[in-house]
Amino acid sequence: MKTIDYIKNAVKTESRDFSAIGERLQSVQNQRLLHGGIGLATEAGEFLDALKKHVFYGKELDTVNLREEMGDIFWYCAIIADELEVDFKDVMERNIAKLKARYGEKFSEDKANHRDLDEERQILEN
Ligand SMILES: [Mg+2]
Repeated sequence: MKTIDYIKNAVKTESRDFSAIGERLQSVQNQRLLHGGIGLATEAGEFLDALKKHVFYGKELDTVNLREEMGDIFWYCAIIADELEVDFKDVMERNIAKLKARYGEKFSEDKANHRDLDEERQILEN
């Protein structure tokens, strides 16, 4: 395959209703959630970069920096929590309830590979 053919085929599957996309971006909720989501991804990248430099380049592990990036991630989580009108406590409790439904009291690969997504969804919705 020529690279130009790859590009032509790839863009065929791109969402290209830019009018509708632009309209959805007018929503303050979508703007805040997008800001939060992009921020989570970039801060996770910074966390991984610090870890990469330690593991692969032999740089001293900077746990102060890792904690800083963790704090930055919380900051973006706070924006998302505010927009979704939830607090961390509720999100944390539902997360643990979901994981208990998935694994019981202990992780197993078998349980990880045979999840009941309907049950998990029900827990998250209640
Ligand atoms: Mg950061």
